[in-house]
Amino acid sequence: MNDTQKGPHWQDRARRVLAGGVSSQFRAADPVVFSHGRGSRIWDVDGTEYIDWTLSQGPMIHGHSHPEILAAVAESLGRGQVWNGLHTQEIELAEKLVEVIPCAELVRLGCTGSEAVQAAIRLARAVTGRTKIVKFEGHYHGWLDNIAVSVNPPLDVAGPEQSPHVVPWSGGMGPGAAEGVVVCPWNDLTAVSSAVKRHAGQIAAIITEPCMCNSGCIEPLPGYLAGLLSICDEHNILLIFDEVITGFRLALGGAQEFYGVTPDLVVFGKAVAGGFPVSVLAGRAKFMESLASGRSIHAGTLNAHVGGVAAALASLRLLQANDEAAYSQMFTLGSRLMEQLRSLADSTGHSVLVTGPGPVFHLGFLASKPHDSKLPAVRNYRDVVKTYDMNKYSRFVRGMAARGVRLIGRGIWYISTVHSAEDVELTVDRARESLAEMARED
Ligand code: PMP
Repeated sequence: MNDTQKGPHWQDRARRVLAGGVSSQFRAADPVVFSHGRGSRIWDVDGTEYIDWTLSQGPMIHGHSHPEILAAVAESLGRGQVWNGLHTQEIELAEKLVEVIPCAELVRLGCTGSEAVQAAIRLARAVTGRTKIVKFEGHYHGWLDNIAVSVNPPLDVAGPEQSPHVVPWSGGMGPGAAEGVVVCPWNDLTAVSSAVKRHAGQIAAIITEPCMCNSGCIEPLPGYLAGLLSICDEHNILLIFDEVITGFRLALGGAQEFYGVTPDLVVFGKAVAGGFPVSVLAGRAKFMESLASGRSIHAGTLNAHVGGVAAALASLRLLQANDEAAYSQMFTLGSRLMEQLRSLADSTGHSVLVTGPGPVFHLGFLASKPHDSKLPAVRNYRDVVKTYDMNKYSRFVRGMAARGVRLIGRGIWYISTVHSAEDVELTVDRARESLAEMARED
C-alpha cells in the first residue's frame, strides 16, 4: 500500500466493524471512503476529486453541501430537533406538498422511502379490506420483507414472462412474508388485466415506479400509466406511484405531473430534502382519511425532524426559483450528456443504448451488436437483463473512476441543478478516453 493512500487503511478499518464494510448493500461493490462533497464534486480521503453523477443514488438534487440548504438547516438547529408534537415548518412543508403534487390532498412525513412504501401498502389494505399487492418485476420499493421480491431475479428462476414467480430478494425473509404479492411484467397492460382477473376481488393496490429506474431507466409506453389507472378504477384498486426516484426530479409535482396521470397514493424519498432523511406519503383525502382516523396506523419518532423539514423547504424553494429554471437546467444538461455519450460510443465502435427522460437516465452496452443497426426495444426487466452487458459497464465505471468521474454500477446517471456544461464536457472527454481504452482491450 502506498503510504500516502488513506483509502485502503479506512476500508480495512471499515471491514473490521461494519458488516461487509458498508452501511447499505448497494455500496458494497465499491466502498470508496469519502471526505467531503461540494456542488457537483466529491473527494475521497486520498484527495481524489470526482465529478459525481451518482448524487448518492439520487437525493443530492442540488449537489453536495448546497449553501442555502445548509443555511436553512443551521438556522433550524438552534430551535430544536424533534418535539413529539407539531412545528410550524412541518405544516408549511405539508401545505407546499399539497400545493405542488397533483394527488396530494393530505400528506404524512417519514424518514426513508422504504417506510413510506410500507405506510402506503398498509393504508391500501386498510381502505380496501383486501390483502394482495401487484408489483412489477425489476421494480424496487425498499428492502422490507413484504415487498422485497422480484427485484432482480435470475431469469432461470423468474418463471413465465406473463405471470412471473415471486422471487425473494434476500435470505431470511419470513415464511409467507411476500405471500400477498402478485408480480407482473412492466409496460404490459394485458398481463396486469389477467392478474387482476386471476385474483379477482383480492387486490388492494398496484404499486409502480412511474418511470422504471431500478432496472434500466425505462419510460412508460404511451397510455400505459393511464391504462393502469383505469384498471385500478374499474376494480376499486388503489394505484400507488413510488416516486422515490422520480419525485421532484422530473417535475415539481413528480412523474405524475410529467406524464399527466394522477395516482391515488404516492411515495417520495431521496430528493425531497436534498440529502436529509425525509420521506412523504401523500394521496387523496378519501384514502388518507384512514390514517387521519387512526384506522390505519403510521408512526415514527423522528418523523418531521426539524432539520430535515428545513432542508426540504429550502430544496423546494430552490426548485421553484426563477420560474423553475432548475428543471430546464437538469433537462438540458441531461439530454446533452445522453446525446454526446451516444455519439461518442458510436464513434469509438461501442454499441450502446441511452434511455430515460434526462434528469435521470441509463447508459448500457449492448450484449450483442444489432444486425441491422436497429436498436433493441427495452420495455421491461427481462429486456434489460437480456440486452445489456453488465461486465462491460463495470469496466467503463472503473475506467471513469480512474479518470475522476463517479458513476453508479448499474448504469443510471443522476443530474443535479448544479451540474454545469463544464462537467458535461469533462465527462465526455474522459468517457472518450475510457471507451478508447476499452476498445483497445477488446
Ligand atoms: N422506492 C424506490 C423506487 C427506490 O429507488 C428506493 C431506494 N433506492 C426505495 C423505494 C427505498 O428508499 P430508501 O432507500 O430511502 O428506504
